Amino acid sequence: MDKQYRDQFSQIWRDSCRRVYVKETITNLILDYWFWITKYETSIERKEEPTNQVYIKEKIDASMGKIRKLLKELYWRERLYVSGIGGTITRDDIHRARTFDFSRLISFSNNKCLCPFHNDTVPSMVYNHKRNTVRCFSCNKTWDTIDFVMEKEGLTFPQAVKRLI
Ligand SMILES: [Zn+2]
Repeated sequence: MDKQYRDQFSQIWRDSCRRVYVKETITNLILDYWFWITKYETSIERKEEPTNQVYIKEKIDASMGKIRKLLKELYWRERLYVSGIGGTITRDDIHRARTFDFSRLISFSNNKCLCPFHNDTVPSMVYNHKRNTVRCFSCNKTWDTIDFVMEKEGLTFPQAVKRLI
C-alpha cells in the first residue's frame, strides 16, 4: 500500500472508532439524563429543599448540553461518511450541492413561493438568501437544497448531492 492509501485508511479507521465512541457516549448520557429527570420529579413530589432541585437541574442541563454537542458531531460525521453509487461524496461536493441556486429548484416571487410539502394556497415558503435555505411557516421546517431535493424527489442523501452537482 502506498502512503496515501495508508493515510486515508487510518483516517477512516479513526473516524469510525470515534463514531462508535460517540454513539455509546450518547446512549450513556441519555440514561444519565433520565436518571436525573426521575430524581427531579421525586424531589418535587417530596417537596425537598429548592437548593437540591437547583443542583439536579444543573445535572440535567449538563447532560443535555453534552448530548446536543455529540449529536451535532455525529450528524456531521454521518453526513461526511456516506458513499453513493459510483464513489464517495467529498466535502467539496456537499458544499457545491448546498450552494446550488435554489431558484433552479423552485421559482420564487419576492422570495416567496407555495410550499410543495403541504396543501398551500397562500405562499408560506420563504427563501433565505444568506443561508440558501427555504422555510415553511406552516410546516414549521427549514430545508437546504439537499434536504429539499431529498424530500421532494424521495432521494437518499448521496443521490441528492449527486443530483445537485
Ligand atoms: Zn409547508
